[in-house]
Order: sequence, then structure tokens, then C-alpha cells
Amino acid sequence: MRQKIVAGNWKMNTTLQEAQSLTAELIGMVADEVQGDVKIIICPPFPYLYGMKSQLGKAARIEVGAQNCSEHASGAYTGEVAAGMLKSLGIPYVIIGHSERRQYFLETGKQLAQKVDGALANGLKPIFCCGEPLEVREAGDHEILVKRQIEEGLFHLNTEAMKKIVVAYEPVWAIGTGKTATTSQAQEMHSVIRKHLADKFGAETAELVPILYGGSVKPDNAQELFSCADVDGGLVGGASLKSRDFVEIIKSA
Ligand code: PEP
Repeated sequence: MRQKIVAGNWKMNTTLQEAQSLTAELIGMVADEVQGDVKIIICPPFPYLYGMKSQLGKAARIEVGAQNCSEHASGAYTGEVAAGMLKSLGIPYVIIGHSERRQYFLETGKQLAQKVDGALANGLKPIFCCGEPLEVREAGDHEILVKRQIEEGLFHLNTEAMKKIVVAYEPVWAIGTGKTATTSQAQEMHSVIRKHLADKFGAETAELVPILYGGSVKPDNAQELFSCADVDGGLVGGASLKSRDFVEIIKSA
């Protein structure tokens, strides 16, 4: 059985005070309502990571992730945050290659492969994102593009390293738009990704890799999406900013 994971990507939202209130609400609701061994990760903006770690404490079953890291280890890269810095904060996860990073910050496959390496070298687990824009899906090229994104970002790894990766399939046309992939579209792409991983790393490794779905996951569609054979949970944007919605999504996993 693969680990079920629900991760919340807060993006560039919340003040410190809002982040603290949201975290406090989540701690209470998760403790009262969430059973089973679903892994819960929240990814706030960088400035809140350290405080959130201590707010959550050791007891809370919520883990913390960063939304990005630099491909460089240190040096004159103003405004950047290195994987080693995240390690020093005790952060276990980092999102790499989110479509907003690819689209607005022009992050390339080569850069993302370097970020993956930097994260792994520092003991962080990458949540590696892939997914096609609308025009690519409409042209019928979504499988080709997503396979290429996986090859560029992950195919240089060895099998042991691959076992530490979480993949998130996020069709760009479904992110923040209210449009969700149908269960058959999600299952189809997750199975394409798993088969591609199996061809490269072997079936045993591919079976272990959690593949999350992202793109307008909400309380009313989470259960259906998470019931697909190859969907191992979700990467949730907008709905992770509302404690009630996020906890209902967690409960669906
Ligand atoms: C995301 O940002 O990864 C995401 C899936 O956003 P949303 O849930 O808002 O579509």
C-alpha cells in the first residue's frame, strides 16, 4: 500500500497572523477528526516555516514543506533559499517545479533536476510537479509533455533516490480555475506516469512512488479523485487556505 498524502500549497498567501490562526485551526481539527495514516503536509511561504515548525511541535501529525528551493547550494543569489537552509530548519519536504515556477519564473527541466539533487542531498523529499497547459492537452500532446517533464527532472536519479520522490500531476488548466480533471483523465495520466517510471526504474520502485493529483481539488470532488487506483492523494492550492475544506479533503484520503 502506498502512502496517502494530502499537501497544502499556500502559495504567496496569508500574513503571519493569518498563518498562525490557520495552523492552530488545523492542529485542532486534525487531532479531533482525522483517523488513519494519511500524511498531511502544509507548505506556507518561506518566512513562516520556522515559526510553523515550532507551532506544530512534535505531537501534531502535520508536517511542513517549502514551496521551492534554489538549485544552488549557497552564494550570491539574492532572494533565493537553498535546500541546505531548509534542512537546517528541519523541513522535510519541498515542492519542486510547480507550474507557476515553470510559467512565471521560466524554470527549466535542467534547473529542476538540479533542485531535485540539492533537495535529496540535504535529506529533503521533493514533491516534483508536472502537468500540461490547456493548449497542449487540446493538441493531444499531454502524455508526451508530461513524460518529458518527468524525464528531465527525475530520470537522472538512481532507484534509491527515486524512492524518495513524491510526484504531483497537476494539469495547468485545472489549477486555480475551478475546472477539475475527470477521474478518468486523472487516472489515465497517473497511470501513464507510473508506467513511465516503471520503464525506467522498474515496477517495484514505480509502485512505491506516491503520485498526487492537483488542480481545483475541493471537498466535493476529493473522494472521487482519491479513489482512482493510481491517485495517492492531492496537492491542494486554494482549498488548503480554508481549514474546514482542507480537513474535509484530508478525510477523503
Ligand atoms: C496548486 O497550486 O498546486 C493547486 C493545485 O491549486 P488549486 O488547488 O487552487 O487549483
